[in-house]
Amino acid sequence: MMGRTHMAIGFLVGLLVLPFVQPDNSLLFVFLVTFASLWPDVDHENSKINRLLPITRWIPRVFVHRGFFHSVFPALILYGVFWYFGLAWIGLPLALGYLTHLASDCLTRLGCNLLHPVSTFRIQGFVWTDGLVEFALFGVVVVLDVVVGVMRFF
Ligand SMILES: [Zn+2]
Repeated sequence: MMGRTHMAIGFLVGLLVLPFVQPDNSLLFVFLVTFASLWPDVDHENSKINRLLPITRWIPRVFVHRGFFHSVFPALILYGVFWYFGLAWIGLPLALGYLTHLASDCLTRLGCNLLHPVSTFRIQGFVWTDGLVEFALFGVVVVLDVVVGVMRFF
């Protein structure tokens, strides 16, 4: 999926979980979920995250697209590291955003191997990346972003 779709979905998930997590800073929480929803695509050369962060551009040369960085392991490591340093309140939204990206990539034709490299099992959907269905999904999610955002913050 495209970066914008991931961000829109990440933003929505961040908003929806707010009542359950009740973070000290709701805006920061939603921002971190949204930002981390771009991270798995560090394994893709032309991804939004690699255009934002020049320091991660080496990753696509070493790691296959939708391999390790599209598994649940980086999310677990991310959370574990922040938790270890007493920063679980940062690790949680980052891991959540990361997993949100993986869940939405599972809807695409290419799918996602969530346990790479332990397993070769892929979850695949019917959505073409940057296709009409994704565009429609993006539109629906943006409307929900606005509606739920207004409900949460105003
Ligand atoms: Zn992806």
